[in-house]
Amino acid sequence: MTAPSIERPRPAHPRPAFWQPHWQAGFAQLGPAFVRQVLPTPLPAPHWVATSAAVGELLQLPVGWQQSHDLLEAFSGNALLPGCQPLASVYSGHQFGVWAGQLGDGRALLLGQVQGQEVQLKGSGRTPYSRMGDGRAVLRSSIREFLCSEAMHALAVPTTRALCLTGSPAPVAREELESAAVLTRVAPSFIRFGHFEHFAARRQYAELRQLADFVIERWYPHCREQADPSGRATYAALLREVSERTARLIAQWQAVGFCHGVLNTDNMSILGLTLDYGPFQFLDGFDPGHICNHSDTQGRYAFDRQPAIGWWNLHALAQALMPLIDDAHAAEAALASYEAVFTEAYVALLRAKLGLARPCAGDADLVQQTLALLAAEQVDWSIFWRRLAQAAGQDDYAAVRELFADRVAFDAWLLRYKELTALAGQGFEPDLMLKSNPKYVLRNYLAEQAIAQARQGNFEELQTLQTLLARPFDEHPGFGRYAGFPPEWASRISISCSS
Ligand code: AMP
Ligand code: MG
Repeated sequence: MTAPSIERPRPAHPRPAFWQPHWQAGFAQLGPAFVRQVLPTPLPAPHWVATSAAVGELLQLPVGWQQSHDLLEAFSGNALLPGCQPLASVYSGHQFGVWAGQLGDGRALLLGQVQGQEVQLKGSGRTPYSRMGDGRAVLRSSIREFLCSEAMHALAVPTTRALCLTGSPAPVAREELESAAVLTRVAPSFIRFGHFEHFAARRQYAELRQLADFVIERWYPHCREQADPSGRATYAALLREVSERTARLIAQWQAVGFCHGVLNTDNMSILGLTLDYGPFQFLDGFDPGHICNHSDTQGRYAFDRQPAIGWWNLHALAQALMPLIDDAHAAEAALASYEAVFTEAYVALLRAKLGLARPCAGDADLVQQTLALLAAEQVDWSIFWRRLAQAAGQDDYAAVRELFADRVAFDAWLLRYKELTALAGQGFEPDLMLKSNPKYVLRNYLAEQAIAQARQGNFEELQTLQTLLARPFDEHPGFGRYAGFPPEWASRISISCSS
């Protein structure tokens, strides 16, 4: 494929740069088989939409960075930070279970690595991997990714982070005309399962090994502590580590009621991070088979299929690593712990939500009974758990009972719950529950409200959500309406892959 012509950004500002990043060696050093140098395409009249002070600190940005015009220009793709050579990486992947071939960063550019974190622009224009796309991201989906990355981090779910979001009046054509935005996102690495699949599919085994060695050296060094002198066991150990991290990540999604929506292998992080926020959703009512992505007509990525899809995706990764592992039994063995690790992590998280600090007899059964109770009436996932947390502290379950039409079923469950918590004795810690059951989650309708306002140039709602979601377990007196039931129109919100 020939590279599209790429506009040059405006010349660098003659004033000394506001931020002179100390770029570190990183992904770029892997060489030309992995990346192409690409300049961002400028956007007219950029403005700040949102910034994360916490991520600014992580990168050690100078105080007041949010007011810097230089940085507004740099994070909109209109100027280059000193010493920055932006890159787009190549990867492939399985999309909706089908091999899709080469994909690559069609609209993301790696600016470089700072403080051990890669900094990427998303929506900064076309790259050699844009295929039919325009290389842009719209304000709507960028607000969703910005808010959700930071919300997930606050929920202690591993995720890529978001430093800032800038907007521009430049029109971008989706189902309708929207406006452009650029998200600056941050992670130790954006390497995906699809990066491995890419080199395996092309039989570029030297590059495949180089990539695996890079990942092992930086993030999984203990995989080298294998007795096998051939090194094959090291790659099997990598597969096991990634498998277990993925299992724990998906357990966290299930516990918090997060549906990713597009679990293609190119959206799976080799570090077990939540990556590429698109048509995701936090559940309202607990419908285990909920499909949040309007484009997912078969329900492949339905909420309750996520653990199995993680497993499927790991097999795609295993297949890609086979030239290095070179032993089908070793690869199978590396994946064998996935289900047990998932179940253990999931039960532990649900146990904490129930207030049980330690494993106890009957806990896994209670988890199943609770899920069945909630599913029977599709009771609101977040509200049930938060009310339960408050009820347990006061030993008054009336507000939880109110959530159910079938009070007989609820009372039977409550009896069982009280029996088990009584048996747990000191192991029952109602205080734990307020830290395990968030009051505030980024429901679709809340994001939609913030987006509608932001389109009018008002970012107040966005900032309010950012503040609440940064501390989702706190009460935030006066903001209770953000933790209530979704309005009736919320069920009609349709979110597709369009972004
Ligand atoms: P996603 O569904 O956002 O994970 O994207 C799947 C692939 O399509 C990735 O390779 C993206 O970089 C690419 N892509 C998505 N949207 C665009 C766009 N507007 N322009 C260019 N590439 C895109
Ligand atoms: Mg993606």
